Order: sequence, then structure tokens, then C-alpha cells
Amino acid sequence: MELNQNLKKIKPSGIRKLFDLAQNRKDIISFGIGEPDFTTPDHVRNAAKKAIEEGYTHYTPNAGFADLREALAQKLIDFNHIQVKPEEVLVTSGGTQALFSTFYALLNPGDELIIPDPGFLVYGSQVILAGGNPVFLPIREQNHFQIDPNELKGLITEKTRAILLNSPSNPTGMVIKREVLEEIAQIAKKHKLFIISDELYEDILFDGRKHLSIASFPDMKERTISIFGFSKSYAMTGWRIAYITCPESLVKEMIKIQQNTAVCPNSVTQRAVLYGLQNPKETKVSIEKMRAAYQERRDVIMKGFKEIEGFECLSPEGAFYAFPNITRTGKNSEELSMYLLDKCGVVTVPGNAFGQYGEGYLRFSFATSVDMIEKGIEKIKEGVKKL
Ligand code: PLP
Repeated sequence: MELNQNLKKIKPSGIRKLFDLAQNRKDIISFGIGEPDFTTPDHVRNAAKKAIEEGYTHYTPNAGFADLREALAQKLIDFNHIQVKPEEVLVTSGGTQALFSTFYALLNPGDELIIPDPGFLVYGSQVILAGGNPVFLPIREQNHFQIDPNELKGLITEKTRAILLNSPSNPTGMVIKREVLEEIAQIAKKHKLFIISDELYEDILFDGRKHLSIASFPDMKERTISIFGFSKSYAMTGWRIAYITCPESLVKEMIKIQQNTAVCPNSVTQRAVLYGLQNPKETKVSIEKMRAAYQERRDVIMKGFKEIEGFECLSPEGAFYAFPNITRTGKNSEELSMYLLDKCGVVTVPGNAFGQYGEGYLRFSFATSVDMIEKGIEKIKEGVKKL
């Protein structure tokens, strides 16, 4: 039987392969997994328990509870400076589903969507599943992992529908500069393209940086689909919740996708995050505690990289990823990643899992304790010396 052709075009995740190998070993130190090591803040967890007791166990409206959409619209106005109505907000079952609904709504067969390379590996696969063609925009270290607007312009064709941005970035940990965002906004307006802005890491910024949302720029709201979530900000990866803001006409179309796939986001999860939004002081303290811990770990890992021969790393500005250049070790990214797992018991992700321009790098998630980071660095230092 012939299955859906698009599935053949999707490679199994390069990350999974490593995790499967690591599972059979003891004493592993992992920099692999891209999720907070913290548990969800207490007040949010308690709100979920209460929601269960109160009987929030039914289907919810497809787009999410009305009071949650209202609270999210207020958050988007206050924090992101995007002037939205609740009808312009769609609650989804996580950022991954938000991305898929976005691609599915925008793309006709053969349409092109420009995505960053290296970038979150789900983007390319989802664009293919949605019937489109991903077009890869190189993100280069010599450009401080910033987008080069001229290179971006060169990729636009009559089939281009949208440009995807991700700031702070997985896997580089970099934040797109205001002036670059402004240039991209001009390009989008000139070529009548949508911007898809993945802002899942908006709360994890270092050294006093403030988050910028491109939808808040003049005349950008009507052409931007912004995706935010709780997976990273509230350490809620397993709860599956995120949200989109975009023009209401598009929300209406995306509701059709949700209606026919997920039906609605999890009812209890929705009540829990609503409580978090309604108690901003407590929530701010929890988010800041995690952010400060990531920053401290960033400093520890950066100090460690300096002691490893052949590693060079730009300092991450946000998220919890470091992306050192490892070309001077003489190994390619898969070889080195396998070597570190095999000989040192350390899990990293080869940069080429994030696209061809990720070759020559390893991704380290530093969402793990300072102690683990120090131990892992020590093991790598010794291992690399023996290369
Ligand atoms: N976007 C980026 C850049 C991510 O790194 C991730 C998860 O790692 C997601 C989206 C998906 O998040 P979620 O767990 O909410 O589906």
C-alpha cells in the first residue's frame, strides 16, 4: 500500500538516535534534551489540582476557554506590546501544534516557506507535512548567528509565502537584533509575505536583554503569526499548551484545523496557566528564578568551553542552548557527538541535526545543574585531549 508521499521525505530525528543509544548506559551526563529541568511552579500545579476537583474535565471551546484568551490578549498587550483582541488569540496543544496549524493554514502545494538553518528541526518536517517546500536560510557564525537580510532577499521567489523567525533561537541561543528585525519587517511588507515568529523562549534572556516582538512593529500585526508558549517559560513541556496571535480571519481558519485534529487544548492545563497569568507577581518570581539559574549555567558552560581544546563558542544571549564550533577538533559533528557519548558518557546533539549549516557545531542544552555541567565539561576536556 502506498502511504502518504510526504512521509518519505521526512528523516527520523537525529536527536532520537542518540537518546536511544544513551538509554542503555549508566552514568550518563546529558546536554541533549531541550527542556527545563525545573518542575512547573507550585502555584500553577496547585491550580491544576483544583481544576480537576472543580470538574474541568470536559471539552473546552476549540480555540480555548474565553477567559484564558482574554488573559492572553492582555498579556500580549502588556508584555509584547501587540494590541490584540481575544478573538485574535488561539490556544493550542503546545508550540509544535501551533506551528503545524500555522503551516497548514498558510501553504498550498509547492508554496515555499523560508526557515532558519540551523533551526528547530520540526520546522522543515512540518512544512513538508503541510504540503509546502522548506527553503533554508543560512544562519552563519561569522555573522554572529544573525540573519543576513540580503541573503534572505535572495531566497524570495513568487512561491514564497512566509519567513519564519525564532528568537531567542534553538539551537544557537542568539537573539535577533532590533535593526535586523526592522529590515526583515520591511522585506515582508515589500514582498507581501507573512512572518511566523516563534517566540517560545521569550522569557529566557540574559544580561538584561528585553524581548522584542516583530508583531509590535508598525503595520506588522496584520502580517505576523506570533507563537508563544508555556513549555519553556513555565517549565510545562509535558502539559502541552501554547498560543498563537494573528489576524482574526486566520484564527477562524486555524480553529477549523484544531476542531478536526486536537479538538481543544487540555482543559486542566488551560485552567492552570490561566491561574499563572492571573497571579503575575508569583509567576514573575518563578520565571525569574529559572531565568537567573539558566544565566548562571550559561556562565559556567562558557567558562568550561574555554578549557576544551578545539571548542569555540559565542556566548548565548537567551534560551538554554550553547552552540560551540568544534571544527578545530578535526571531527565532524556526528563523529564528535558519538565519540563523546561512547568514550566520555556525555550526550550532546550534533549540529547537523538542525540543518546543513549546523555542521561543525554541537548543541548543548544547559537546562541541567551546575554540578552536572562541570562534571560533563571535565569529561569532555579529557576525552578531546585523546583525539
Ligand atoms: N519552538 C522552538 C524553537 C522549540 O525549541 C520548541 C521545543 O523545543 C518548540 C517550538 C515546541 O514547543 P512545545 O513543547 O510547546 O511543542
